[in-house]
Amino acid sequence: MKKASVYDNVTKQFNKAADLMHLDPEIRKILARTNNEVIVNFPVKMDNGHIEMFTGYRVQHNNALGPYKGGLRYHPAVDIDEVRALATWMTWKSAIVNLPFGGAKGGIQIDPFKYSASELEHITRRFTFALGSNIGPEFDIPAPDVNTNPQIMAWILDTYLSTMPAHERQAAVHVVTGKPVESGGSIGRNKATGQGVVFTIEQWAKDTNFDLEGAAYFVQGFGNVGSWASRLLKPHGSKLVAVEDVSGAIANPKGIDPDDLYEYTQKNKGLIGGYAKAKPIDHETFLATKADIFIPAALENQITLKTAPMLNVKLVAEGANGPTDPDGDKILHEKGTDLLPDVLCNSGGVIVSYFEWLQNKRSEFWDLEEVDGKLHRKIVAGYERVRDTAREHNIDWRTAAYIVALSRLETVYKERGIFP
Ligand code: GLU
Repeated sequence: MKKASVYDNVTKQFNKAADLMHLDPEIRKILARTNNEVIVNFPVKMDNGHIEMFTGYRVQHNNALGPYKGGLRYHPAVDIDEVRALATWMTWKSAIVNLPFGGAKGGIQIDPFKYSASELEHITRRFTFALGSNIGPEFDIPAPDVNTNPQIMAWILDTYLSTMPAHERQAAVHVVTGKPVESGGSIGRNKATGQGVVFTIEQWAKDTNFDLEGAAYFVQGFGNVGSWASRLLKPHGSKLVAVEDVSGAIANPKGIDPDDLYEYTQKNKGLIGGYAKAKPIDHETFLATKADIFIPAALENQITLKTAPMLNVKLVAEGANGPTDPDGDKILHEKGTDLLPDVLCNSGGVIVSYFEWLQNKRSEFWDLEEVDGKLHRKIVAGYERVRDTAREHNIDWRTAAYIVALSRLETVYKERGIFP
């Protein structure tokens, strides 16, 4: 089956918001396209001595608000269409929470589980080398995304710095964010996306007079975002009732302890399959779980024409990028399901990436209280902008989020004009 175009979703979302807000037609032409698209094919020597060729991507959508920023994904489904979409979403995301960043995304089309740790290191280092000056601390700053982590960021850092003159290296530590704390990362970056998801859910609960104590939620994806969001909801007294990942879905109406499940996954290649304190269920049963909140925290195009009618929740909080397609959006809106759109809901990651970047530039180390406090202020301010825009125009929250982002970009383009 041909994969649905994710970039088509972006185009539809963009056109809807641009029409509604009467975005300047000249600026619309600019934002409807990506600035740069880099594709690199590069060789890596495998453990068995043979060479394998890999394809890597970096798409830079827009840098009107600041350097290009966005993660790197290692997944078999990575292709130019997907990376284009993810890069564009990063532009909107930074604009909504007021970061001085543009949007980019990249990745390698691989199944990382098929490679040894040393092969992954060599693939990462050779990819970084192939990207060369297409990334840089004041130009384009990668970070973790699906199947990438602080260790991979440390290899990118080391490779990038090793290609620079010795006296310039220390000044370039902010070439990548999401690094291990010891290598210049920020405290609180690892949990930041999940933390942001929970901060936005808290705001929604406040606005709608909803009590999170005893509320039931279920989560798709138990990687960085899904596991942290689940674990950070636990102190609210909310109950995790089902989880799904690539190894299948599990449920327990009495509640699954997210910390216990997380510990299990750490001994099980990161997967939930085989967890004894919940029973296996199929994908349809998982989607139809009766709960208050659904947190998709995996891949794109999960909530669609086919699956949106199955959902039985008050709120969808998008930890993933692009989990709902435009048909899915329409159905959720008609059903009266609330939505915290990805470009707002999962912006905690890039917000703390910005804090890491600032700390590196200033040779500072902030403590967790400072990081979390600043993250809270930024994401709540973004939440309020989106909520107020939705109320003002009487529109869905995704379109409102787009209007917030596009208005900011429109202002900057009008002020600066077009060279020459
Ligand atoms: N990959 C994350 C995202 O989609 C984080 C990006 C970043 O920190 O630059 O938002």
